Amino acid sequence: MFLENKNSRVQQVHFSEIEDKDISIFVKREDELHPFISGNKYRKLKYNLEEAQKLKHHTFLTFGGAYSNHIAAAASAGVEFGFKTIGVIRGDELAFKLDETFVTNATLKFASEHNMQFEFVSRSDYRNKTSKEFINNLKDKFGKFYLVPEGGTNKLAVKGCEEILNKEDEIYDIVCSSIGTGGTISGVINSLKPHQKVVGFPALKGDFLKNEIKKYVLTSKKWSLNTDYHFGGYGKVSEELIYFINKFKKETNIPLDPIYTGKMMYGIVDLIKKDYFPKRSKILAIHTGGLQGIIGMNNVLKNKKLPIIE
Ligand SMILES: *Cc1c(COP(=O)(O)O)cnc(C)c1O
Repeated sequence: MFLENKNSRVQQVHFSEIEDKDISIFVKREDELHPFISGNKYRKLKYNLEEAQKLKHHTFLTFGGAYSNHIAAAASAGVEFGFKTIGVIRGDELAFKLDETFVTNATLKFASEHNMQFEFVSRSDYRNKTSKEFINNLKDKFGKFYLVPEGGTNKLAVKGCEEILNKEDEIYDIVCSSIGTGGTISGVINSLKPHQKVVGFPALKGDFLKNEIKKYVLTSKKWSLNTDYHFGGYGKVSEELIYFINKFKKETNIPLDPIYTGKMMYGIVDLIKKDYFPKRSKILAIHTGGLQGIIGMNNVLKNKKLPIIE
């Protein structure tokens, strides 16, 4: 076995903005599972690493944007478990001056230091990354590899995410998770008990997520998406969000990332303020990790002369 099935700790949150509300929030610290294979990416890689070994692959190939948590996690897992890794990265401009890219992009620098080989592709080619032609070109170039889709989502990833919730988590009424591709929340939904429901917070715009999730989940489960907290789209942030993330960390000691968990927590707090959840609800928010992305986001914020994440 490569990654063992660990249970992350749960921490109760006391946050001033909602202290007058009769609702309790707990955070499941999946971000603490591993120093580099962080959060949900640990769960998503677990069975894929085992499958790659079973199929006798030596190379792990996957896809991501320039700040991808999945790319960082895959590179780290490759070193730890002896796979060569190839990252197909969106944005061919990044390859033009690679040394400069590494100065401003801590994610790619980290992946490169963990021996990941990059294949930078244009945005239009990246959109075709699931086509037969594109994959065949990669095979011609790199030989045999085990392919994991963008964000790491496939059936085996969902299976791994079914291990996020444990017996001790049955005391919560509502479980909240951030959503990128939908793999993580699908696993969480599948492991729900009948008295529990899930509220998901997409970190991006788009109506396709519901159908993505339906591909993976059991029909008996209770879940919904709240699409009001994407802050303009994937990777987009506002000053208000940054202010919230900093205030939340100051009061609770829990760091949030700006792409996923910050938006989810902002949404949970806002909904509590609006009395969306029934009184005395016990909410379990899953901290899916992503903290490695803060450095890259802070570089972007500094360039725009905006406040940074502390
Ligand atoms: C990748 C990621 C997500 C999204 O997970 P999906 O399974 O793609 O929905 C959420 N939070 C963090 C921190 C992530 O890195």
